Amino acid sequence: MLSIICPLYNEQAAVEPFFARLLPSLAAAGEPFEILCIDDGSQDDTLGALRRAQQDCAAIRIVELSRNFGKESALTAGLDLARGDAVIPIDVDLQDPPELIPELVAKWRQGYEVVLARRSDRTSDSWLKRQSAEVFYRLHNRIGEVPLPDNVGDFRLLDRAVVAAVRQLPERRRFMKGLFAWVGFRTTTVAYTRAPRSAGHSKFNGWRLWNFALEGITSHSTVPLRIWTYGGALVAGLAFCYGLFITLRTLVVGVDMPGYASLMTAVLFLGGVQLIGIGVLGEYLGRLYLESKQRPLYLIRAIHDTDSREP
Ligand code: UDP
Ligand code: MG
Repeated sequence: MLSIICPLYNEQAAVEPFFARLLPSLAAAGEPFEILCIDDGSQDDTLGALRRAQQDCAAIRIVELSRNFGKESALTAGLDLARGDAVIPIDVDLQDPPELIPELVAKWRQGYEVVLARRSDRTSDSWLKRQSAEVFYRLHNRIGEVPLPDNVGDFRLLDRAVVAAVRQLPERRRFMKGLFAWVGFRTTTVAYTRAPRSAGHSKFNGWRLWNFALEGITSHSTVPLRIWTYGGALVAGLAFCYGLFITLRTLVVGVDMPGYASLMTAVLFLGGVQLIGIGVLGEYLGRLYLESKQRPLYLIRAIHDTDSREP
């Protein structure tokens, strides 16, 4: 069986066109399926739209989270509840074409445990988004523990074994793409063209993406911490040389009072460097703090389902 996982946050207008394209594609894939819709605390009528779609399709299971926990947590909820032998997370805004599903499934039948869908054409995203994404992937792959395949989102097929592996990772702060890459397994790729959003607007604005990128880097690399060791050593080395230089000069040409500019520069520069260093430390300390609380990743209000009614 296939489990399709769709996280939804305020997507009432996108639900209907999504199922209109998803269901034929699933029929073409020729496997029994369930569609797990995770309503991530939507404030609009997303739940109503899902309930209406469910009337015509018993394979739809709706999971209502108690509030908006974010896409990563919604996906985690989907992975926890999926019962399929393969799982496919997909966005409801039709930016990930459901028509690709039969192709993903075909690769899975060939024995691949992870089938990535790579965006070969992202011209539907803005120039700024493409550029910043590229910088992020380059930086992440240079300093991160495991490389992230570039231009690959959450749209992919995961075998049951991979899902079990991802579920074993206990961290609270979840950068799903990083976790998927970390577990490994036999992987292949198929390409697709990223379409523009079918309805509504993106939930990831610039600020949220920036924080998402910080999350990605700090959750898979400690290089930002180590940089300060080298930075500190470099600054200390330079300061030592400069000190030596002033001492020698004083010995040779005597005492020289005016030193305001150099003093000020050194004080301000070092102050700035120290603040950045403390900020990076704080970033990791904050992560530790949040991990140590061990709170659940999401809370479920209800599951609407034709055959079971678990909590
Ligand atoms: N989403 C979610 N919770 C959130 C934000 C987004 O479940 O807090 C869902 C959203 O409904 C969509 C998917 O995640 O199905 C991708 O979001 P979006 O299309 O806004 O992101 P983009 O494609 O612009 O990166
Ligand atoms: Mg989208």
